[in-house]
Amino acid sequence: MRYWAVIPAAGAGVRMQTDLPKQYLALRGRPVLDHTLERFCTHPKIEGVVVAIAGGDTCWAALPLATHPKVRKATGGEERCHSVLNCLHLLAGFADPGDWVLVHDAVRPCVSTEDIDRLMNALADHPVGGLLACPVRDTMKRADGDGRVEQTVCREGLWHALTPQMFHLGDLAAALDGAVARGVLVTDESQAMEMAGKRPLLVPGRSTNIKITSRDDLALAELYLKRTD
Ligand code: C5P
Repeated sequence: MRYWAVIPAAGAGVRMQTDLPKQYLALRGRPVLDHTLERFCTHPKIEGVVVAIAGGDTCWAALPLATHPKVRKATGGEERCHSVLNCLHLLAGFADPGDWVLVHDAVRPCVSTEDIDRLMNALADHPVGGLLACPVRDTMKRADGDGRVEQTVCREGLWHALTPQMFHLGDLAAALDGAVARGVLVTDESQAMEMAGKRPLLVPGRSTNIKITSRDDLALAELYLKRTD
Protein backbone atom coordinates (compact mmCIF):
# COMPACT_ATOMS: atom_id res chain seq x y z
CA MET A 1 0.00 0.00 0.00
CA ARG A 2 1.39 3.39 -1.00
CA TYR A 3 1.17 6.81 0.66
CA TRP A 4 0.29 10.05 -1.14
CA ALA A 5 -0.05 13.61 0.12
CA VAL A 6 -2.76 16.09 -0.89
CA ILE A 7 -2.19 19.76 -0.06
CA PRO A 8 -5.12 22.16 -0.49
CA ALA A 9 -3.43 25.51 -1.25
CA ALA A 10 -6.15 27.38 -3.13
CA GLY A 11 -7.41 29.65 -0.36
CA ALA A 12 -7.62 33.36 -1.04
CA GLY A 13 -6.50 34.40 2.46
CA VAL A 14 -9.14 37.11 2.74
CA ARG A 15 -9.27 36.91 6.55
CA MET A 16 -5.72 38.23 6.86
CA GLN A 17 -6.42 41.10 4.47
CA THR A 18 -3.06 40.84 2.77
CA ASP A 19 -2.43 41.09 -0.97
CA LEU A 20 -0.87 37.67 -0.86
CA PRO A 21 -2.80 34.54 0.14
CA LYS A 22 -1.53 33.10 3.46
CA GLN A 23 0.25 30.17 1.82
CA TYR A 24 2.57 32.57 -0.01
CA LEU A 25 3.53 34.85 2.89
CA ALA A 26 7.24 34.84 3.68
CA LEU A 27 8.38 32.62 6.52
CA ARG A 28 12.11 32.58 7.20
CA GLY A 29 12.72 33.96 3.70
CA ARG A 30 10.55 31.61 1.65
CA PRO A 31 6.83 31.05 1.12
CA VAL A 32 4.84 29.17 3.76
CA LEU A 33 3.77 26.62 1.11
CA ASP A 34 7.39 25.83 0.25
CA HIS A 35 8.05 24.79 3.87
CA THR A 36 4.92 22.63 3.89
CA LEU A 37 5.79 20.95 0.58
CA GLU A 38 9.32 20.23 1.76
CA ARG A 39 8.01 18.15 4.68
CA PHE A 40 6.15 15.82 2.32
CA CYS A 41 8.54 15.83 -0.68
CA THR A 42 11.44 14.76 1.53
CA HIS A 43 9.47 12.08 3.40
CA PRO A 44 10.76 8.70 2.18
CA LYS A 45 7.36 6.97 2.39
CA ILE A 46 5.43 9.61 0.42
CA GLU A 47 5.16 8.56 -3.22
CA GLY A 48 3.86 11.85 -4.58
CA VAL A 49 2.22 15.13 -3.61
CA VAL A 50 -0.85 16.68 -5.29
CA VAL A 51 -1.31 20.40 -4.59
CA ALA A 52 -4.54 22.32 -5.27
CA ILE A 53 -3.77 25.74 -6.74
CA ALA A 54 -6.40 28.38 -7.49
CA GLY A 55 -7.09 29.34 -11.09
CA GLY A 56 -5.41 32.70 -11.71
CA ASP A 57 -2.73 32.05 -9.05
CA THR A 58 0.38 33.98 -10.11
CA CYS A 59 2.72 32.82 -7.33
CA TRP A 60 2.80 29.03 -7.73
CA ALA A 61 5.13 28.87 -10.76
CA ALA A 62 7.87 30.76 -8.92
CA LEU A 63 7.82 28.42 -5.92
CA PRO A 64 11.14 26.53 -5.63
CA LEU A 65 9.40 23.16 -5.05
CA ALA A 66 6.77 23.57 -7.81
CA THR A 67 9.01 21.62 -10.20
CA HIS A 68 9.96 18.86 -7.71
CA PRO A 69 9.51 15.46 -9.42
CA LYS A 70 7.10 14.26 -6.71
CA VAL A 71 4.77 17.27 -7.11
CA ARG A 72 1.67 17.53 -9.32
CA LYS A 73 -0.80 20.38 -9.54
CA ALA A 74 -4.59 20.17 -9.45
CA THR A 75 -7.06 23.02 -9.85
CA GLY A 76 -8.47 24.59 -6.70
CA GLY A 77 -12.21 24.66 -6.01
CA GLU A 78 -14.61 27.11 -4.45
CA GLU A 79 -14.21 25.71 -0.91
CA ARG A 80 -11.48 23.61 0.71
CA CYS A 81 -13.53 20.42 0.26
CA HIS A 82 -13.80 21.04 -3.50
CA SER A 83 -10.05 21.64 -3.75
CA VAL A 84 -9.35 18.35 -1.92
CA LEU A 85 -11.81 16.50 -4.16
CA ASN A 86 -10.12 17.84 -7.31
CA CYS A 87 -6.79 16.49 -5.99
CA LEU A 88 -8.32 13.09 -5.18
CA HIS A 89 -9.86 12.81 -8.65
CA LEU A 90 -6.47 13.57 -10.23
CA LEU A 91 -4.78 11.07 -7.89
CA ALA A 92 -7.29 8.37 -8.85
CA GLY A 93 -5.76 8.43 -12.34
CA PHE A 94 -2.55 6.80 -11.10
CA ALA A 95 -3.07 5.64 -7.47
CA ASP A 96 -5.07 2.65 -6.17
CA PRO A 97 -8.31 3.06 -4.19
CA GLY A 98 -6.70 1.27 -1.23
CA ASP A 99 -3.68 3.59 -1.09
CA TRP A 100 -3.41 5.95 1.89
CA VAL A 101 -3.83 9.70 1.33
CA LEU A 102 -2.58 12.26 3.85
CA VAL A 103 -4.47 15.55 3.42
CA HIS A 104 -2.59 18.49 4.92
CA ASP A 105 -3.38 22.23 4.95
CA ALA A 106 -0.84 24.30 3.00
CA VAL A 107 -0.93 26.81 5.84
CA ARG A 108 0.44 24.38 8.46
CA PRO A 109 4.18 24.60 7.73
CA CYS A 110 5.29 23.47 11.20
CA VAL A 111 4.12 19.86 10.97
CA SER A 112 6.99 17.64 12.05
CA THR A 113 8.23 14.47 10.37
CA GLU A 114 7.73 12.75 13.75
CA ASP A 115 4.03 13.68 13.69
CA ILE A 116 3.64 12.35 10.13
CA ASP A 117 5.37 9.10 11.15
CA ARG A 118 3.24 8.78 14.31
CA LEU A 119 0.07 9.14 12.22
CA MET A 120 1.26 6.55 9.68
CA ASN A 121 2.27 4.08 12.40
CA ALA A 122 -0.87 4.53 14.51
CA LEU A 123 -3.13 3.90 11.50
CA ALA A 124 -1.14 1.16 9.76
CA ASP A 125 -3.69 -1.55 10.67
CA HIS A 126 -6.70 0.68 11.21
CA PRO A 127 -9.70 -0.06 8.99
CA VAL A 128 -10.85 3.57 8.64
CA GLY A 129 -7.96 6.02 9.15
CA GLY A 130 -7.77 9.10 11.32
CA LEU A 131 -6.24 12.47 12.03
CA LEU A 132 -3.70 14.29 14.14
CA ALA A 133 -5.44 16.14 16.96
CA CYS A 134 -4.70 17.64 20.34
CA PRO A 135 -6.86 17.74 23.45
CA VAL A 136 -8.53 21.05 24.35
CA ARG A 137 -6.80 22.60 27.37
CA ASP A 138 -8.73 25.85 27.92
CA THR A 139 -12.16 26.15 29.45
CA MET A 140 -14.60 26.42 26.56
CA LYS A 141 -17.46 28.97 26.32
CA ARG A 142 -20.36 29.17 23.91
CA ALA A 143 -21.29 32.77 23.01
CA ASP A 144 -24.73 34.21 22.41
CA GLY A 145 -25.35 36.61 19.50
CA ASP A 146 -24.11 39.59 21.56
CA GLY A 147 -20.70 38.22 22.49
CA ARG A 148 -21.76 37.26 26.01
CA VAL A 149 -21.27 33.85 27.57
CA GLU A 150 -24.29 31.67 27.07
CA GLN A 151 -22.80 28.48 28.41
CA THR A 152 -19.62 26.79 29.60
CA VAL A 153 -18.97 23.76 27.42
CA CYS A 154 -17.41 20.77 29.15
CA ARG A 155 -13.98 20.22 27.56
CA GLU A 156 -13.88 16.56 28.55
CA GLY A 157 -13.39 14.58 25.33
CA LEU A 158 -12.94 17.69 23.13
CA TRP A 159 -10.01 17.77 20.69
CA HIS A 160 -8.65 20.28 18.17
CA ALA A 161 -8.67 18.63 14.72
CA LEU A 162 -5.30 19.16 12.99
CA THR A 163 -3.86 17.85 9.74
CA PRO A 164 -2.62 15.61 8.19
CA GLN A 165 -5.78 13.50 8.08
CA MET A 166 -5.17 10.06 6.61
CA PHE A 167 -7.71 7.85 4.83
CA HIS A 168 -7.87 5.37 1.96
CA LEU A 169 -8.19 7.14 -1.40
CA GLY A 170 -11.37 5.34 -2.52
CA ASP A 171 -13.17 5.73 0.84
CA LEU A 172 -12.26 9.40 1.16
CA ALA A 173 -13.23 10.34 -2.40
CA ALA A 174 -16.60 8.58 -1.98
CA ALA A 175 -17.22 10.23 1.42
CA LEU A 176 -16.34 13.73 0.17
CA ASP A 177 -18.33 13.27 -3.04
CA GLY A 178 -21.28 12.16 -0.89
CA ALA A 179 -21.03 15.13 1.48
CA VAL A 180 -20.80 17.66 -1.37
CA ALA A 181 -23.73 15.97 -3.17
CA ARG A 182 -25.78 16.49 0.02
CA GLY A 183 -24.79 20.16 0.05
CA VAL A 184 -22.59 19.88 3.17
CA LEU A 185 -19.33 21.85 2.83
CA VAL A 186 -17.26 19.82 5.27
CA THR A 187 -14.29 21.66 6.76
CA ASP A 188 -12.12 18.57 7.14
CA GLU A 189 -11.87 15.03 5.78
CA SER A 190 -12.82 13.42 9.07
CA GLN A 191 -16.21 15.14 8.95
CA ALA A 192 -16.92 13.58 5.54
CA MET A 193 -15.92 10.13 6.85
CA GLU A 194 -18.10 10.66 9.96
CA MET A 195 -21.05 11.51 7.69
CA ALA A 196 -20.39 8.23 5.89
CA GLY A 197 -20.83 6.44 9.24
CA LYS A 198 -17.12 5.90 10.02
CA ARG A 199 -15.24 6.53 13.30
CA PRO A 200 -11.80 8.01 12.49
CA LEU A 201 -9.05 7.56 15.08
CA LEU A 202 -7.72 10.62 16.95
CA VAL A 203 -3.91 10.45 16.99
CA PRO A 204 -2.27 12.86 19.48
CA GLY A 205 -0.12 15.42 17.64
CA ARG A 206 1.98 18.41 18.64
CA SER A 207 0.19 21.69 19.33
CA THR A 208 3.03 23.45 17.45
CA ASN A 209 1.39 22.24 14.19
CA ILE A 210 -0.47 25.56 13.96
CA LYS A 211 -2.61 26.90 11.12
CA ILE A 212 -1.43 30.30 9.92
CA THR A 213 -4.46 32.58 10.13
CA SER A 214 -2.93 35.87 11.36
CA ARG A 215 0.36 37.82 11.43
CA ASP A 216 0.89 36.65 15.02
CA ASP A 217 0.80 33.06 13.80
CA LEU A 218 3.63 33.82 11.34
CA ALA A 219 5.87 35.01 14.16
CA LEU A 220 5.03 31.90 16.18
CA ALA A 221 5.69 29.61 13.20
CA GLU A 222 9.07 31.28 12.76
CA LEU A 223 9.94 30.44 16.35
CA TYR A 224 8.81 26.82 16.06
CA LEU A 225 10.79 26.29 12.83
CA LYS A 226 13.90 27.86 14.37
CA ARG A 227 13.70 25.37 17.24
CA THR A 228 13.82 22.39 14.86
CA ASP A 229 16.86 23.63 12.88
O1 C5P B 1 -10.11 28.00 4.71
P1 C5P B 1 -9.01 27.61 5.64
O2 C5P B 1 -8.27 28.77 6.17
O3 C5P B 1 -9.41 26.62 6.68
O4 C5P B 1 -7.98 26.86 4.67
C1 C5P B 1 -7.29 25.69 4.98
C2 C5P B 1 -6.51 25.26 3.75
O5 C5P B 1 -7.40 25.02 2.66
C3 C5P B 1 -5.52 26.31 3.26
O6 C5P B 1 -4.29 25.68 2.99
C4 C5P B 1 -6.17 26.89 2.03
O7 C5P B 1 -5.23 27.34 1.04
C5 C5P B 1 -6.96 25.69 1.51
N1 C5P B 1 -8.13 26.07 0.67
C6 C5P B 1 -8.23 25.55 -0.62
N2 C5P B 1 -9.30 25.90 -1.41
C7 C5P B 1 -10.24 26.74 -0.97
C8 C5P B 1 -10.15 27.28 0.35
C9 C5P B 1 -9.09 26.91 1.16
O8 C5P B 1 -7.37 24.78 -1.06
N3 C5P B 1 -11.25 27.09 -1.77
